[in-house]
Amino acid sequence: MSARILVIDDLEANRRLLEAKLSGEYYEVITATRGEEGVQRAKREKLDLILLDVMMPGIDGFETCRRLKAQAETRHVPVIIVTALDDRDSKVRALQAGAEDFLTKPIDDIELMARVKSLLGLKIVIDELRAREASGKRLGVIEDGPDPLERHRLRAGNVLLIDDNASQLKRMRAALGVEHRVTELGDSGALDAGPPDLAIVAVSTKGFDGLRIIARMRSSEPTRHLPILAIVDSGDRERALRALELGAHDIITRPVDDEELAARARTLMRRKRYMDALRQRLDHSLELAITDQLTGLYNRRFLFTQLGPLVQRSQCGGDVVSVMTLDIDHFKRCNDAFGHDVGDAVLQEFAARLGSNVRPNDFACRMGGEEFVVIMPNTTGDVACHAAERVRRQMCASPFNVPGPPHPLEITVSIGVACSEDGEESAETLLKRADEALYEAKRAGRNRVVGKAAERAA
Ligand SMILES: [Mg+2]
Repeated sequence: MSARILVIDDLEANRRLLEAKLSGEYYEVITATRGEEGVQRAKREKLDLILLDVMMPGIDGFETCRRLKAQAETRHVPVIIVTALDDRDSKVRALQAGAEDFLTKPIDDIELMARVKSLLGLKIVIDELRAREASGKRLGVIEDGPDPLERHRLRAGNVLLIDDNASQLKRMRAALGVEHRVTELGDSGALDAGPPDLAIVAVSTKGFDGLRIIARMRSSEPTRHLPILAIVDSGDRERALRALELGAHDIITRPVDDEELAARARTLMRRKRYMDALRQRLDHSLELAITDQLTGLYNRRFLFTQLGPLVQRSQCGGDVVSVMTLDIDHFKRCNDAFGHDVGDAVLQEFAARLGSNVRPNDFACRMGGEEFVVIMPNTTGDVACHAAERVRRQMCASPFNVPGPPHPLEITVSIGVACSEDGEESAETLLKRADEALYEAKRAGRNRVVGKAAERAA
C-alpha cells in the first residue's frame, strides 16, 4: 500500500510541484491550501506524513504544526516543515513546534525523498508499536501506562562518530554532547557507554571509505539495525544517493549545522527506540504465549508445538524422543486440607524442583492442574527412566516448606515414561503410553516410576 501524504501550502505552484515529485514516486498525495484546513483534513484522513509550508495567510506553518501535534488524532503523523527561510531561527522554530524534520526551498529531490522515506519508515514503526500496545492492553497483557511513544522519547543515547575531520568532530561532539553520550571510533573506552544507538559517518572523506563502512554496518549482524546518518559535501549528489542506497537512513550536508544535526540525530534515535521496544514487546508476548503463568514452566500449547515435530523426526530415522508424565500424589487432599493458595505454592515448589532436575535440553511443561510433562529429546527409554527416578527422589527427599500449613508437607510424585523408539508413533500415542504407565504407577501404590514400551510389531 502506498503512503498518503498531505501537502499544505497556500501557493498552487508549490502544491503542484510537490504533488508531481511525490506521485512520481508512487505516493498518494492530498492537498490543503490553508493551515486551518490542513488541520481539519489531517483529523479526518488517514495520513502517513505531512509536508507543511511556513508562510501562509491565516495561521502560519509553525502554528499549524503546534495544532497538529496537540490533537490526539494527528499527533503521531510525522511533519516536515518546508521553509524558504534558510536560517537557523526558522529551523529551530520548526523543531520547537514539534516538527520531525524540515526542508528548505528550492527543494532538492534527493533530500526530499531521503526525508520522506526516513519518516515514513518511522511512521510504520510507530503504527506497529501503537497497534501492539493497543491489542496488548485489550488482552490485559500490558498495563495502562504512559504513551509508549512518550516513554521512549527523551532518553539520552549513545552516538558513534566516524569522521577524519578533527574540527568537525569537535563541533559535532559539542552539539550532540548536550543530550547524548558521544564517542569517536578509536576512543579508548568507546564501548563502555554500551552499544551505539546511532552512527554518524562521513562519506566525503579522504582518509577512509565511508560508503564501505556503511555497507559493512548494514550487512553485519550486531549493527544491522543501527541507524546511520551520512555526512556528505553539499553538491555531492552521487555520494548522497549511494549512501542512501547502501542503507544510510538519512543524510546531512557539510558544513554541518548544529541544530539540524541534533534534530536528525533525535529523529533517528527515536526510531531505533521504537523498534527496540517493538522487538522487546514481541519477545515478551511470545514468552507469555508459551509460559504457564503460575509456575513459569512451558505451557500445554508449547508442549504440543515441540513434541509433534520431535516425534515425527524420530519416525523418519532421526533421534529418539522420550516423555515423562508426572502427577503429584494426593494433590487434592492438600488442596482440600489447606486451600488453593497452599496448593498453588506446592505446585510452584514442585515446578522449581522439576525445572532444576531436568537437563538443559529437556522441556518441562505444566499440562494443567497437578499434571506435568517433560519432553526429553534424543533420549532413550532407559535413560528417561533414570531421569524420572532422579526427579521422583528429589520430590520426596525433603518435605515442601510452603507458607500456611502448620508443618512442612510430604509430597510424592508418580511418573510414567514412554519413548518413541518402540514403534509407530505420534505425539498423541506417545503421550497416551506415558499416561498409561503413569496410571500403572498410581495403581501400584504411587511414588514410583513406570516405563512403558509399545507393543512391538511381530
Ligand atoms: Mg507560502
